[in-house]
Amino acid sequence: MQENFSLQPYNTFGVDAHARYFIEINGIEELKEALTFSKKQHLPLLLLGGGSNILLTKDFEGLAIKLNLKGISEESINDNEILVTAKAGENWHEFVMYCLQRNYGGLENLSLIPGNVGTSPMQNIGAYGTEIKDIFVNCKVLDLENLEIKTFNLEECNFGYRDSIFKQDGKGKYVILQVTFKLTQKDHHIKTEYGAIKSELENLNIQHPTIQDVAKAVISIRQSKLPDPKQIGNAGSFFKNPTIPLAQFEDLKQKFENIQGYPNGDVVKVPAGWLIEQCGWKGKQIGNVASHKLQSLVIINATGKATGKEIFDFSTEIINSVKEKFEIELEREVNII
Ligand SMILES: Cc1cc2nc3c(=O)[nH]c(=O)nc-3n(C[C@H](O)[C@H](O)[C@H](O)COP(=O)(O)OP(=O)(O)OC[C@H]3O[C@@H](n4cnc5c(N)ncnc54)[C@H](O)[C@@H]3O)c2cc1C
Repeated sequence: MQENFSLQPYNTFGVDAHARYFIEINGIEELKEALTFSKKQHLPLLLLGGGSNILLTKDFEGLAIKLNLKGISEESINDNEILVTAKAGENWHEFVMYCLQRNYGGLENLSLIPGNVGTSPMQNIGAYGTEIKDIFVNCKVLDLENLEIKTFNLEECNFGYRDSIFKQDGKGKYVILQVTFKLTQKDHHIKTEYGAIKSELENLNIQHPTIQDVAKAVISIRQSKLPDPKQIGNAGSFFKNPTIPLAQFEDLKQKFENIQGYPNGDVVKVPAGWLIEQCGWKGKQIGNVASHKLQSLVIINATGKATGKEIFDFSTEIINSVKEKFEIELEREVNII
């Protein structure tokens, strides 16, 4: 256990906030000991995976636990389906690559998402037409109340768009220990309809893509569009794409004929990046913080010296200007600590 510990290397924004206590955990017994310590001392808890979806707005006056639980296991169900279980501390992209090397399909569209496996259910990570709920079987968690292990199946996780039980009623109540996915061994469901996957495959001259080809295309698109947190601090999309009533969308269309939207029944999902761009934020910098020049949905620590509060205030200014122009309230996707 370390005291007054800088979390700068443990959050992809690269914010230099300190934790009163910090510990790295490799096993469940160690985890239980740390949790018992925090309970006795009445310390708030901060669980850390890859730190790619948090914004530390101030020093953390509690115990930060970096979860390093490792291991991957497999159980074949039949000659096509296989259950693959990864412990919370496995790096997500390395896990995707592990599955692709064995020709297990289902995760390829989720290549190169930063973070760890244990965090993937938190916001039902998704990209390029796939969300983990599509291949999720269950996750094992440690209940912080009684330190007992519990299993959540697909239904119990209540997955939604960048949402799950772990951000709703279960917020702050569980440590996710491992996640099990059901993948395919031969009859793969290749998804190329979303985003630029098709055109990227054409560029690569691939007509009958394998799951490995899809992953290659996704990686290439992501590398060209998104800033690498190792080079420039960021947490990916800072806001969720808002969903508004159809009637409000129709009204806005009268005023802003280029407004984009994806209707679903009587609601419409509007791309937050477009709204932010229309308010003039794309590439704009204030002090140490900026909106990324290629993707305005991504807020960056432009100088590497930004504080969490500066980043938070920048995001509030974006929310206010989108609200003023479109009467749409953006919601932050990143967890504010
Ligand atoms: C460049 C970039 C691109 C991104 N692209 C995408 C994308 O395409 N799709 C997408 O969905 N996300 C994307 N993200 C966001 C991020 O990668 C995901 O949300 C990822 O799942 C976060 O994992 P993490 O381990 O880094 O979480 P952390 O930031 O460490 O933690 C996130 C939250 O989960 C809690 N937590 C961490 N581990 C556990 C655990 N084991 N049990 C319970 N709670 C826990 C933390 O306390 C915190 O509240 C992107 C981020 C970046 C930087």
